[in-house]
Amino acid sequence: MFISTRDKNNRKAFSQAIFEGLAGDGGLFVPEEWKDLSTLYQSLTGASFNEMASAVTAEILSDELSREDAESIVNRAFSFEPHFNRLDNNISVMELFHGPSCAFKDFGASFLASSMEFFLQDRSKPAVILTATSGDTGSAVAQAFHQKENIHVVILYPSGRVSPLQEKQLTTLGDNITALEVKGNFDDCQRMVKDAFMEASLKKTLGLTSANSINLGRLIPQSFYYIYGFLKEKRASDTPFSFCVPSGNFGNLTAGIYAWKWGLPVGPFIASTNQNDVVPQYLFTGEYQPRPSVATYSNAMDVGDPSNFERLLHTFHHDWKEMKYHISGYSVTDSETLRLMNEFYQRHNHFIDPHTAVGIQGAKRFLHDNSTTSKGDVMVLSTASPAKFTEVVEKATGKQPPLPQQLEKCLHRKKESIVIDNTLKSLKSFLSDSFDS
Ligand SMILES: *Cc1c(COP(=O)(O)O)cnc(C)c1O
Repeated sequence: MFISTRDKNNRKAFSQAIFEGLAGDGGLFVPEEWKDLSTLYQSLTGASFNEMASAVTAEILSDELSREDAESIVNRAFSFEPHFNRLDNNISVMELFHGPSCAFKDFGASFLASSMEFFLQDRSKPAVILTATSGDTGSAVAQAFHQKENIHVVILYPSGRVSPLQEKQLTTLGDNITALEVKGNFDDCQRMVKDAFMEASLKKTLGLTSANSINLGRLIPQSFYYIYGFLKEKRASDTPFSFCVPSGNFGNLTAGIYAWKWGLPVGPFIASTNQNDVVPQYLFTGEYQPRPSVATYSNAMDVGDPSNFERLLHTFHHDWKEMKYHISGYSVTDSETLRLMNEFYQRHNHFIDPHTAVGIQGAKRFLHDNSTTSKGDVMVLSTASPAKFTEVVEKATGKQPPLPQQLEKCLHRKKESIVIDNTLKSLKSFLSDSFDS
């Protein structure tokens, strides 16, 4: 079972929690207790990604799913897996961007979509997923839910304010995915979605639900690749093994911490941020001081008050010293990011995106700081394809990265969107015309 970070008596099954998104009390859902999976982990050496993910899912959700159910959810979610690159010295890179939208969010979104489809089988009413995007994250959700049974997805994006490639990713899927092009900015889109969820009657009649990044169904599957990465790349059993996670909302890092709480022998974790460094600052000083975000080159991490910090506090019993013992924080500037992207290209003839660069720089600093005490290995999570950030890549290296096949394909498809005003009224009339039978 799972509980709210704000009330341990607010207990929910996974199948309920994923449709609620945020807990009713405003908290986030977290595991009620930590199962010990260390024996299971050992038995999974050599397993494929999906075999490992099925076994872990079946164990974590054993009160709700049979082994076959878990396998079916996992196999419908993942037709892609992490790729690995070992660099010189002690750093390796786990590439998490080989899914349909070319970013690591595909892992979480695909598992959520597949789980929702599974649990909706016994419900008569379809669900309508309503979500707003500033460009990048919406495409992982759109791709993940495309052609899922019993689910419609409505994505709001600000007209003229997303990149041409992002717009194509959102508007060319069709079928059960509708893109609403809002005459306004991202804040308008977010406000409209929020206001729609506030209307209890609308929420109920339409079966409205969210799929945003705090959803438990997106968090749990992110722990799978930590387990897989460790099993695949661990060298000697007495070498310490750390993960370095480029972080914004800290969902990705939290999932790694969960894999460890379930018994993965790794640590400490390295949290690498851009100049939006409230968590590294907290680890340093013990004071948590959220503030408005500033724009950086690694813009998917421009977060001034990370939502998953509440989950981290809960895991570490609100104890600063405990969290500090298990997580090392680093903050990386834009100029360091560009320099590293260029250096990496010159040295390895390989492009990396700015978020990954923040991760690699954090890993280097960690190894430098610990060079006398530990000769450990660090695996950096690479969160997006460089092709999604061509402008920054070009600024850093003077060259354009090649476009992966997934992105190339959608460029040739026809954009289909419905233009609406930036008001709740226009959103409501679209929703009732389309889904209220
Ligand atoms: C979302 C995102 C991140 C940050 O992940 P969090 O879970 O929010 O910390 C990092 N890199 C990329 C490319 C992202 O899209």
